[in-house]
Amino acid sequence: MEFVLIALVSIAGLLMGSFFNVCIYRVPRDQSIVKPASRCTSCGTRLAWRDLMPVISWVSLGGKCRYCKSPISYRYTLVELLTGLIFVVLYLKFGISGSFLTYAILCSILIIATLIDLDFQIIPDGLVLTGAIFALLLIPAGLSVHWKDALLGMLAGGGTFLLIALLSSWILKKEGMGGGDIKLMGMIGLFIGWKLTALSILLSIYAGGIIGGLLMLLRKKKRGDAIPYGPFIAAGTVIAILYGNDLIQWYILTFL
Ligand SMILES: [Zn+2]
Repeated sequence: MEFVLIALVSIAGLLMGSFFNVCIYRVPRDQSIVKPASRCTSCGTRLAWRDLMPVISWVSLGGKCRYCKSPISYRYTLVELLTGLIFVVLYLKFGISGSFLTYAILCSILIIATLIDLDFQIIPDGLVLTGAIFALLLIPAGLSVHWKDALLGMLAGGGTFLLIALLSSWILKKEGMGGGDIKLMGMIGLFIGWKLTALSILLSIYAGGIIGGLLMLLRKKKRGDAIPYGPFIAAGTVIAILYGNDLIQWYILTFL
């Protein structure tokens, strides 16, 4: 039974990942995510279901379009696998529960936001708004955090980043935090409440510092180059969701 559920959850994750690829491509280009049907971005041939099966199609076609043979980025497959993996990990941690549903929706938004931020250095308002609407539906259904905790989470998340943005523009005279990041962090707070939000902010700052430092060390980036911050917010939030309560517990026992 357990095995069947894991298989179902991973298939759901792969299919959702395939849909997220459509969102990642179309949302920043202001195209509908429903219509028209998927086409090859090179030759424009309308793709059939057998061209669109997550992972399987890409592998069986050798990473090339069936019709024009242009290469198809491995990234589509990677997004599908990542979504499947995150769904399974969430299921193993939370079972089929309100937490699973809440976090699966939040992680879905974060996967889409991360890839769009990497491509275009923006986090679309529509995406953040969609997440916020989902959060506001989950709260009265009793599937997520209490509404007071959600509200505090939104204020803590958005407020902290807004403060960082204001301070860095006053003191450093440069944009330290984009508007998209501020809104994204506020939306995350609505999903996870203020404690995990605080942890997620800390983790994202650590991750950003470490990866940013590495990129400078490897001379991929210079001091002052813009690095999209959305991926670090997403990574910090996923870690906070999976290990946050353990980390907070450990911190209290060790230091307080
Ligand atoms: Zn083609």
